[in-house]
Amino acid sequence: MGKPTGFLEIDRADRKYKPVDERLKHYKEFVVPLTEPEVKKQASRCMDCGIPYCHTGCPVNNQIPDWNDLVYHGDWKDAADNLHSTNNFPEVTGRICPAPCEAACTLNIDDKPVTIKTIENSIADRAWEEGWIRPLPPEKKTGKKVAIIGSGPAGLAAAQQLARAGHDVHVYEKNARPGGLLVYGIPDFKMEKAIVARRVKQMEAEGVTFHCGIHVGQDLSAKYLESKHDAVLIAIGSEQPFDFFAKSPGRDLDGLHYAMDFLPQQNRRNAGEPQKPKTHEISAKDKHVIVIGGGDTGSDCIGTSFRQGAKSVTQLEIMPMPPEKENKALSWPHWPLKLRVSSSQAEGAKTEYSISTTGFSGEGGKVKKLHYTRVNANLQPIKGTEGALDADLVLFAMGFSGPIESDIVKEFQLPVVPRGRFKGLDATDKDYKLATSPKLFCAGDIRRGQSLVVWAIREGRQAAHTIDKFLMGSTVLPR
Ligand SMILES: Cc1cc2nc3c(=O)[nH]c(=O)nc-3n(C[C@H](O)[C@H](O)[C@H](O)COP(=O)(O)OP(=O)(O)OC[C@H]3O[C@@H](n4cnc5c(N)ncnc54)[C@H](O)[C@@H]3O)c2cc1C
Ligand code: SF4
Repeated sequence: MGKPTGFLEIDRADRKYKPVDERLKHYKEFVVPLTEPEVKKQASRCMDCGIPYCHTGCPVNNQIPDWNDLVYHGDWKDAADNLHSTNNFPEVTGRICPAPCEAACTLNIDDKPVTIKTIENSIADRAWEEGWIRPLPPEKKTGKKVAIIGSGPAGLAAAQQLARAGHDVHVYEKNARPGGLLVYGIPDFKMEKAIVARRVKQMEAEGVTFHCGIHVGQDLSAKYLESKHDAVLIAIGSEQPFDFFAKSPGRDLDGLHYAMDFLPQQNRRNAGEPQKPKTHEISAKDKHVIVIGGGDTGSDCIGTSFRQGAKSVTQLEIMPMPPEKENKALSWPHWPLKLRVSSSQAEGAKTEYSISTTGFSGEGGKVKKLHYTRVNANLQPIKGTEGALDADLVLFAMGFSGPIESDIVKEFQLPVVPRGRFKGLDATDKDYKLATSPKLFCAGDIRRGQSLVVWAIREGRQAAHTIDKFLMGSTVLPR
């Protein structure tokens, strides 16, 4: 612990955002980093708790008090090594993790947790700037071949770990670029894609081969991959969106789209990547946009709509408005239910709670109105509260039910259950194996259901541990 009285003397201070009118002009990141002296001061607030509760919130087991202390003493290189010992992509989590570690921090008991995420990001960005992050190819190759299907954070983390253990790793990805939702879902203004591209380059130098533009199960048989490799990791995410309005009036009108038909288009435009063939281009320009769903995906639709020039953006959430402040005695150190205003919501969106969509109506085949009713605490309609909102574009951001079941899942006859998990497996399973074949493993959103990037990284690392042990009889890869 660098400064025993740090938490008493220094107030929490965190990164700020650039002004809304400035950031809405582009799709670039808009977080203003803290200066080095400020980050060191913030790190000195860490109390190096006897029981570091921050650890209970971190899925990748980051050694948070250790690198807080190293940063306070200016030992950035050791901090970077320490951070990379538990997390393959800290520059990613430093940008887009919701930071359950901060909710769990002891100093959050009075709402002033250590700015763990900001410190993590500063360490990772500095490590890149200083050239400390280099390829770490294995000293010896094992002669074993592993196929990874899907290049989201789970597939990427597993690929890096397995390549460093000496295996010949081949990643198959249906999109043009690796990265999964990091590249095609999360907007550039939350994380610019050069961040992922430089990691991909590092991994190529470590011996990972990326085969992009190959849809396994359609362009290439999954069983063929299984026959040509010693192990196969399935990390294809949870891509099937929920649609609660399939039978609602007006569902077939033009202007109603899934969030993941809308967001990737903008990310492709920003990258100069052509849209997929036969794409119907969606734009929010000069439109009244309604986003149904209150999570990360909904927020990303809001920020993207504003940048495209939407006339108005309204977000609808069926759940009641959460309390502004959580009851710490009941919630700490767990993730609390409380009102959070995302940076995108703060760009001018109106958020309505306790509201349920009943249908859509339009003119000339195009949506013009969204019809709603208010609901009570049990989500039941309240009579007499019906109404309609102007709507030229409606985006569904209501979550994902599991993997697309038409290709790999069908070919391997995988027994999926709702929310992306396989029968007999749930998030508490430690072995990451699929009973269908000893060579098959799975990780990420397909295994635990729709989740977070930090959980996908953990799953990728743990699956790599299991696969290395399966191939070699023992492993030194960390769990
Ligand atoms: C819009 C959006 C915003 C989000 N924002 C955040 C956030 O801010 N912070 C956060 O922590 N989490 C966020 N999440 C959740 C997070 O992105 C996911 O939990 C995480 O990416 C899951 O990682 P994964 O590797 O399991 O799957 P994915 O990232 O979904 O990657 C799966 C990959 O498999 C590929 N694939 C699928 N089928 C095939 C096939 N048959 N052949 C070849 N390739 C295939 C896909 O193209 C994709 O690249 C967000 C999710 C969405 C949808
Ligand atoms: S809980 Fe907070 S104060 Fe305690 S060790 Fe972790 S980061 Fe430091």
